[in-house]
Formats: sequence, C-alpha cells, structure tokens
Amino acid sequence: MTAEIVAVGSEMLTAGRLDTNSLFITEHLNSLGIEVTAKHVIGDDNGRLVTAIRRALADADILILSGGLGPTEDDLTRDAVAEALGCQMLADAETLHAIEQRFRTMKREMPAINRRQAMVLEGAEILRNDKGTAPGQWRVVDEKSGKVVVMLPGPPSELKSMFTRECLPRLAAIAPPTAIHTAVLRVTGISESQLDQTIAPIYLNRANLATTVLAHDGDLQVRFRAQCATLDAAIALTEEVAARAAEALGEHVYSRLDEPLEVVIGNRLAAANSTLVVAESATGGGLAQRITGVAGSSAYFIGGYVTYSKKMKTDVLGVPAALLEEFGAVSKETAQAMAEGARLAARADWAISITGNAGPSTDGSEAPVGTVYIGVAGPGNPIEITVTHRMWPVNDRGRVRAFAVQSALDLLNRRLIAHGLLSA
Ligand code: ATP
Repeated sequence: MTAEIVAVGSEMLTAGRLDTNSLFITEHLNSLGIEVTAKHVIGDDNGRLVTAIRRALADADILILSGGLGPTEDDLTRDAVAEALGCQMLADAETLHAIEQRFRTMKREMPAINRRQAMVLEGAEILRNDKGTAPGQWRVVDEKSGKVVVMLPGPPSELKSMFTRECLPRLAAIAPPTAIHTAVLRVTGISESQLDQTIAPIYLNRANLATTVLAHDGDLQVRFRAQCATLDAAIALTEEVAARAAEALGEHVYSRLDEPLEVVIGNRLAAANSTLVVAESATGGGLAQRITGVAGSSAYFIGGYVTYSKKMKTDVLGVPAALLEEFGAVSKETAQAMAEGARLAARADWAISITGNAGPSTDGSEAPVGTVYIGVAGPGNPIEITVTHRMWPVNDRGRVRAFAVQSALDLLNRRLIAHGLLSA
C-alpha cells in the first residue's frame, strides 16, 4: 500500500519554513507498512493543487494533505480536493455548530468566513480537531479502488493530535497485514562506494526489502529492512541477506548487533579483563572521548595521554628525542614508540597511539596533510606492536581527526580479534 503527502501553503515554500508534518506522518505510515512514494509542497494556487491531487491519486492508494484548511480565501485545500474529485461540498451542521460554540466560549463574534471551515466533501467523514478550529476530513475516493484522501490542518500540534486519534485507527483498518524487521551491519575500513559495489548484487531487486547505507567519518551502517506478511518471513529475509552481505564484506563487519565500534572493543576488553591506554597527538583526546562515551568504560580504560609537543612525547612517554629528530613526530617510528611508551607507563595490557598531520597547513612537518600513523601495542614478550599508516586526501582538519580515531579503533579491534578476545 502506498501513500503520497502534499503540504499545502505558500509560506511552506519560503526559505524559513520546513515541512515537518510529513516526517511525522511518514513515520506512522511506515510503522503500518504503508510506503510513502512521494511528497510535495504546493503553494496556495488552486490549479497547481488540483493537478497535484489528481496525479497523486493516480499513483498512490492514500493521499494525505496538510494545511490550507483555515477560513480565509487562500485556504484552498477543501475546494481543490472537491474539484479534483468532481464532488460537491456541503455545510456540515454539527461542525458549524461546534465552530459557533467555540467563538461563543471565547465571547467573540464568529466572522462569516469561518463558515467555510464547516464545508465538507460529500461523503467525507469528519476528523475532530481538539486543538483548533479546522476539522479534518477522510474521504474514500471510490469504493472500487478503495483510495482515500485525507485532509489535515497545518499547525503541527493540531495535525499530530488529529492524526493520532482519528487517522491511525482508520489507516490500521485498511492497511494490509504486515510485519517489519530490520537487520543491521556495522562496517568500517572500507569506503561507501566499495561497500556498495560489494553488496549491491546481494540486495538489489529483492522484493519487500529496502536497503540503506549511512556513512559517517569512516563508519558505515547498512540497514536491511524487510516488510512482509508475517514477522517470521521478515526475519528470514533480512537475516538471509545480512548473512550473505556479512560474508562478502568479511573482516570489515565489526558488529551485527548494531553496536558502535567502541562498544564492541569495550566488550572484548571487559570480557578478557584487559586494560587499555591511549596516547594521542593529532586527535587531541578525541580517541579517549570515543572510548569514554561508553558507560562502564572505567572497567577497562585506564586513561589517555595527550602528548602534543615533542617534549611531552619524550618526557611522558619516553619517546627518545633522537628518534623524534631523525624520523619526525609524524612517523611510523614515533607512533610505535608512543604506543610502547604509553603501555609501559600506564601498565596497561593494550595501548593505541595516534600521530598525524590534520592540517590545514603542514606546520613544518615533513608529512603531508592527512597523514596519520596509528600504533597498537599489545601483550606478548616482546611487546607486539602494529603500526599502520593512513593518508586521507581531505584538507579538512575535523574529518582527518575523526577518520584517524575511527581507524585507530578499527586497528585495535582487529588486533583484539587476532588475539582471540571475544565480544560477548
Ligand atoms: P489554520 O486554521 O491555523 O490556518 P491551516 O490548516 O489553514 O490552519 P496553514 O494556515 O496552512 O494551516 O498553516 C498554519 C501554520 O502551521 C503555518 O503557519 C505553519 O507554521 C504550520 N504548518 C503548516 N504546514 C506545515 C507543515 N507541512 N509542516 C510544519 N508546519 C506546518
């Protein structure tokens, strides 16, 4: 079952206004398994409205209009729907009485134009407005197609109340039985286009399945949403597709339980009774912030060093001054010495280090903007050290730093997996 939404009102086309009503309506329609196939914002223009209504009804099963139900000449929704459907409008005595009563309660004379609000499409059901004057309307276009036009007031508080009380039960009665299930893969260490190229053959052209990919600073979320007649069928479909996609993506998938990377890492460390320390230069504490954003991280996170200057790298982490001179602060050797030094200084099981050049200027460093070295030091004798080098071709300080943090967490997670630490 499909729906289209039309937001009516010239002011909704101005720069300062946003059609938020459709977001609310869409969320509820989706929860009933009704798919929104198009949304429009149309100004106060009768001809354009009539055309939009006819087009929408040709395509969709349900048309929901919001706004334009006020009493003034530019409130055109009622007239436009009547014209598009070719039906009459009648004054509804009960609605008129209610409007008159409202004015009487406010001890104000009712202007004649308010009678317009009592005009109802022939055959429409009236949707009571408990937060304002304009009633809504529910009109079955014709019995054969079962298509429906719904008119709702524009003010969000009026619309929400009316939609929840009056429309949801009616929509639930006509929506086909449906169940929705979503499976999520959390992925990193791969670009959005590489990811899509890998999994598109698996999810494309699958009936009842909607796939979305959200990407943010190197972190990717793939959501497979199935809508089927039964919950079992929806679960079976999403799980089958998610399992195949996870297999194709391999080690890039870090969670199938929709958990952030720092939570997955925290679970591994906590389950193994292991501790972690970080030593950051370019990210200035961003890594520690991600890790400590997890409730309960004190169980495994000892703390972090923000060693921005060469002097502090030497004084606090014991990075030899000669090494810094020879290789530079942004180098494989420095990353390695920072991780090793932090692990020993904090007596932690694991340490991560980040040193890089986030830009915008090279700051006298040899390394080009976007160059980041990440080190992980782990238990073992001698200490296991892994250093990776990444280069991000973006001259955006915030993004380089965010990507560096994400990469550092990714590298640590892979090391923990290689070490047999489970995320349970
Ligand atoms: P009224 O009787 O209050 O005039 P109405 O149904 O004619 O009701 P409109 O005049 O179209 O409604 O809109 C009233 C106000 O509601 C607008 O000024 C705007 O602030 C808000 N509004 C209208 N449509 C939307 C929308 N789609 N999303 C968010 N807000 C909206």
